Amino acid sequence: MEKLIIIGAGVAGWTAAIYAGRASLEPLMFTGIEEGGQLMLTTDVENFPGFPEGIIGSDLVEKLKKQAERFGTRIFQKNVTGFKKIKGGYEIAVGKEKYSSKTIIISTGASARWLGLPNEKNFQGRGLHTCATCDGFFYKDKEIFVVGGGDSAMEEANFLTKFAKKVTIVHRKDTFRASKIMQEKVRKNPKIEIMLDSEITGLKGEPPLKMVTIKNAKTGKTKNYKIDGIFLAIGHIPNTAIFQGLVELDEHGFIKTDRRMRTNLPGVFAAGDVQDPIYKQAVTAAGTGCQAAMEAERYYDEVKEK
Ligand code: NDP
Repeated sequence: MEKLIIIGAGVAGWTAAIYAGRASLEPLMFTGIEEGGQLMLTTDVENFPGFPEGIIGSDLVEKLKKQAERFGTRIFQKNVTGFKKIKGGYEIAVGKEKYSSKTIIISTGASARWLGLPNEKNFQGRGLHTCATCDGFFYKDKEIFVVGGGDSAMEEANFLTKFAKKVTIVHRKDTFRASKIMQEKVRKNPKIEIMLDSEITGLKGEPPLKMVTIKNAKTGKTKNYKIDGIFLAIGHIPNTAIFQGLVELDEHGFIKTDRRMRTNLPGVFAAGDVQDPIYKQAVTAAGTGCQAAMEAERYYDEVKEK
C-alpha cells in the first residue's frame, strides 16, 4: 500500500507533491492525460509571486514538475477512472490497473466552461480568456466582451473596467441570473454596456481574435463586432465525477473541505480549484496543495502502524 497518491497535476497537485516528497511520503502522482491544469491555457502569468518579469504558464508547470521530481515523486501520465474505500485505505483504478494508498490528495481541478465553437481552441489565451484576474491587465484601454449572466460575469465585468475602455456584457437570455446587488453595480458602472438575447456564434482573427459574430436570439439576425478580447464567465465544472457518492460535494459539484483541506473521508484531502469555487488562483491552489500535503503527512503518521 502506498503512503500517498495524488490525483491531478495542476499547481495544487505539484505543490502537494513537492511537500509530500520532502516529507518522505514518496508520492505517486497521476497527472491525467492533460497535465498542467488551467495554467496551460494562459500565456503570461504575472501574478505568481517570485517572477517579477512574469512567466509563461506552461513554463511554470514545467518548473513545478521538475521540483516535484527532484524530491522523488513518481509520475504517471494516466487518467484515474475509479475510486473506492478499502480496508485501511483507498483504492484507485486506472483502467484495469489498481493502486491502493493510506492517504489521497485530490487535485483534479475545475475546467472553465467554453463556448463549444469549432475554432475556439485557436484563440484560448489569444483573445479568448476565462480569468479576468489573470489576463485583464493585458486589456488596458481596449474594448472587451464578457459573456455570461451569473455573478461571475457581473464581478468580472466590473473588475475589467479597471483596465478596459469599454466592457460589454453579452448574455444569451433577456434576464440575468446574477444577484440583484451585483446587477445594480454593473448597471451603475458607466463603462459597462449590456447586450441581451445575444449568443456568440463565430470567432475570427489570425489569431489573436479580431472579430466576433453575434446572433440575436429573438430575431435570429447575426452581426459582426470588432473586439479586442472576450472573457467567458459561463461557469466552471469541477472534475469530481469519479468521487461522487463517496466524497461530499457542494451543490455545484465542488469538494467540501474544512480549513485543513480534509474531506468527509479520513485520509482523503482536496486542494486547488476542485474545492475552490471562489479564488481559483494559481497561488491559492499552491497554498492549499501545501496544506493538504502537510495534513496527509500528519494523518499518515497516525495510521501507518494500523
Ligand atoms: P452560473 O452558473 O451562476 O452562471 C453561468 C452563466 O453563464 C449563466 O448566466 C448561463 O446562462 C451562462 N452560460 C452557461 N453556459 C453558457 C454557454 N454555453 N453560452 C453562453 N452562456 C452560457 O456561474 P457563475 O460562475 O456566475 O457562478 C457560480 C456560483 O458562484 C454561483 O452560485 C454564484 O452565485 C457564485 N458566485 C458568487 C460571487 C460573489 O458572491 N461574489 C462571485 C462569483 C460567483 P443562463 O442564465 O442562460 O443559464
